[in-house]
Formats: sequence, structure tokens, C-alpha cells
Amino acid sequence: MSLSHASRPAAHFMIEAPTPGADYTAVIAGLEAEAVGRYSLRSPASGEVIASVADCGAAQARLAADNAQRGFESWRQTTPFARAALLKAWHSAMLEAKEVLALTMAREMGKPIGEARGEVDYAASFLEWYAEQAKRLDGDILPSQHPDKRLAVLRQPVGPVFAITPWNFPAAMITRKVAPGLAAGCSVIVKPAEQTPVTAILLARLWQQVGGPAEVFQVITAERPAEISDLLIADTRIRKVTFTGSTPVGKHLYAKSAATMKRMSLELGGHAPFLVFDDADIDAAVAEVMASKFRNGGQTCVCTNRVYVQRGIFDSFAKRLAQAVDALSVGQPEEETTQIGPLVSQAGRDKAQSHIDDALAQGARRLTAAREVDGFFVAPTVLADVTEEMRIMQEETFGPVAPLVAFDDEAQAVAAANATPFGLAAYLWTRNLGRAHRVSEALDYGIVGVNDGAPSVPQAPFGGVKDSGIGREGGRYGIDEYLDLKFVSTRLDG
Ligand code: NAD
Repeated sequence: MSLSHASRPAAHFMIEAPTPGADYTAVIAGLEAEAVGRYSLRSPASGEVIASVADCGAAQARLAADNAQRGFESWRQTTPFARAALLKAWHSAMLEAKEVLALTMAREMGKPIGEARGEVDYAASFLEWYAEQAKRLDGDILPSQHPDKRLAVLRQPVGPVFAITPWNFPAAMITRKVAPGLAAGCSVIVKPAEQTPVTAILLARLWQQVGGPAEVFQVITAERPAEISDLLIADTRIRKVTFTGSTPVGKHLYAKSAATMKRMSLELGGHAPFLVFDDADIDAAVAEVMASKFRNGGQTCVCTNRVYVQRGIFDSFAKRLAQAVDALSVGQPEEETTQIGPLVSQAGRDKAQSHIDDALAQGARRLTAAREVDGFFVAPTVLADVTEEMRIMQEETFGPVAPLVAFDDEAQAVAAANATPFGLAAYLWTRNLGRAHRVSEALDYGIVGVNDGAPSVPQAPFGGVKDSGIGREGGRYGIDEYLDLKFVSTRLDG
């Protein structure tokens, strides 16, 4: 496989953000684009059609799997140094194309443009980090009790990978899977969420434009995902499935994958608690809750979903949080000043609004000012007098709503935080060092932010326990998900 284009300067990338009339085909080697149907992509902000996108089915999935198998056979033979060079070139290309990618995400899923630029940086950081990590795929030599034997452990790529990604981070959820996969020597087929296909398509085009082989990273788009997913999961050539999305779909895919014994990674839903202790610097705690709760309109798997505040500071914390939320600017995603855009869909809007309505009907108190919103927008809201029976305390809201509950002591706060089937991210604010250690150890979560509402970085393991999933993405841990261990025992005088 020739990788001679890896150093091509990132100067002339041909990608465009969606505009009415734009047409995007899937990025599958050898695809006859005109033979594939199309579906209409609508803006969640305006409801207008912003592009037409390939609606692939079983035939395209089969083609992608054929390619992925061929791509794997040659890609696995490349050196990690060559793979690293391509990942670095792709990283530079993403940063050079930042504005187009950010605009695409703003248009596809309503992410405020400033946050969308931040996502491009975050997404690209996985390419750079795994470009470096590709060179550290070392194995082991084990000591032997037999003088004539040599024992070695090799780390080899698992094979072609099928990745299914959600709409809430249209770029980062792709690179967090694809970068370690490619670095390890796997080929990857990505099926992006039906709401955000264009970001994925543009990433694949950039990959090809820096010289990435077309059979090694492919993007298959579809309005109804099950047909593609069923076929690829049943295909024995696909050796791994990695999924980020909701817990029910994750469980469904996990069960289906048993038949062909796939390696699985599942990054699923969360229901993050934020515990604010009474020794907190209240303004600093408010700032971290704002960052954790209202980023991406609350549509983040690690978003705070429940805020527990120690009784002594409850009123003053609640007042300052409500003031900060009232100051949030709600608007069109492409406007520079917008902090809260629309939710991604009617269903997303209805769920978040129903959590507010249910809480108010059961006696909760709204602390924030009423705002006129329409379409898929939900007014950012803070609720007090919330009880554990309310839906907002039981389910992931995925919207800009913060329910506040008072607690009395550390044990009560930890018990409430852990009383959920989910276990992705949890947060606490305290200046007491002993408490910081005790509580972070006691929380049944994969990620804990201590005085930190935004802990995600490419070098750290990201993932959950219980119903929040299996496996980790990111860091040196994340690449293990794409590697098999092979033990080689050699008798010298064989
Ligand atoms: P979703 O489960 O509806 O969709 C996620 C992906 O699965 C999409 O690509 C979708 O097309 C696909 N899908 C849906 N049904 C399918 C089926 N039957 N067969 C195959 N594929 C199918 O979730 P969503 O609403 O898009 O995403 C939000 C969810 O993702 C939230 O629960 C959030 O917490 C979770 N999430 C988790 C993480 C994490 O790292 N743990 C990160 C982001 C989002």
C-alpha cells in the first residue's frame, strides 16, 4: 500500500458545509453514488432542508465490508510510523478546515458555532494523540522456566471495525474511535447518526485528500440504521463493533453481536450527579456546573443531570446559578453570541420539556425567568424543590435543565449519587482534600471531576460502568480495544 501522499501540504481541501441543494454521497470505495437513494437533512434551528444525503442499505453495507476486509489486509502491513504520518496529516487538515467543519455541525445539529469550533479542536486532538501512540504498540518478552524456549506477546489489530456514532458530537465521537483503530492497524467503517452525516462525510473526504486509503476508512450513511447494522454485525469479517449512543440501542447491539462473537465497546447514556459541598467557593462551583450542564444545550452524555447542594449553601448557590442561567444567550447556532441553540429534534425537545413540565406538576419551583421559545428550542431552566420521584431525577434529560436537590451530609450525597443504573460521569465541588478523595473513590462512575466540570482530554480513559457501557476510549487504554494479544512460544531447537 502506497502512503506517499501522507506529507501533502494541507492547502487545498475540497469540502463544503451543507447548503440547500447540496448533495452528499456516502464515502465507500467503488460506490456507484447515483444508484443510492437520498434522504433530506433538515436544520433543527429552522426546519428547512439543508442537504440531501445518501440513504444506504444492505448492498452498500456489503460493499463497505468487502472493502474493509481488503483495506485491513494491506493496512495492517504498514508500519506504525507510516500510519502515524497519515494521522498527523489528517489532524492538520481538520484544523485547516475548522471553519467548514464547525459550520457543518452548527447547521446539522444546532451546536453553537463557538462550541462547534471547540469540538473540532477536541476531535482533532485524538488524531494527533494516536498518531503518537501508534509508535508505542510494543509487546512483551516474558521470562521462561525452560532454557530452550522464548516467550513473546504481540499486540495485533483485531480486524475490520464497525463504528456507530451519535449526533451530539458529530466529529469527536468519530475520531475518538477511528484514530485508535487506524493507529492499531484496523480498517474502520463509520455509520454516523442520521442527523449528522455530513460531518462524517467531510472527515472521510479529508482523510482521502491527505492520502488516506479509501478502503481503510469509510462512511456509510442511512436514514434507518438497522438494515446496515444488522448486516455488518452478522458479517464474520467485521471483528469489532464500537458504539456510542443510548443504552437501549447499545444493549440491543450487544445482544446481536454475540452470534459472531465481536469485540464490543459501548459508550452509553449517563445521568451525572454534581455534588456541591458547603465548603465550596460558590461562584467557582456555579461556573463548573454551568460548564458541565449547559454545554451543547445539555446534550452531552457527561452533562450534569442532577445537582445536589449541601443545605447550608443551597439558597445562595441556587440564586447565583439561576442568575447565570438567565444570562445565557439563546439563539441561532451560527450567531457568534449564541450559547444555547435548539435541541436536535422534536423528540429531544419534547423529552426535555416534559421533564420540566412533570417536575413543575409535582411541586418543583422554577427559579429562572420565563422565556419565549419555539421550534426545537427549550428555555434554559433551573428547578428547586425537586424530589427523587420526578422523571428528571430518574432519566437522562439531554436538555438545558438543572434540577437542584438539598442534602445534609456526605454519606447521603454519595448514596443519592450512586442510586442509579448509570455510571458514566460524576462531579463534586469541595475544598476539603480528604473529602475530595473519599467521595471520588466512593462514586460508582467511570469519570469523576473534582472541582472540574469539563474533564475530557484525549490522553484520559473515557467510559462508564453499569448501564453506561463497557470499555474505554482515549489514552493508552483506548487503543487496547482495537488490539488482540497473541502469545508466541518458541522452542529454539524445534
Ligand atoms: P441513539 O442510540 O438513538 O443513536 C446512536 C446511534 O445509533 C446513531 O448512529 C443511530 O443511527 C444508531 N442506531 C439507532 N438505532 C439503531 C439500531 N436499531 N441499530 C443500529 N444502529 C442504531 O442515541 P442518540 O440519541 O443519537 O445519542 C444520544 C445518546 O448517546 C445519549 O444517551 C448519550 O448519553 C449517549 N452518548 C454517550 C456517550 C458516551 O461516550 N458514553 C457519548 C455521546 C452520547
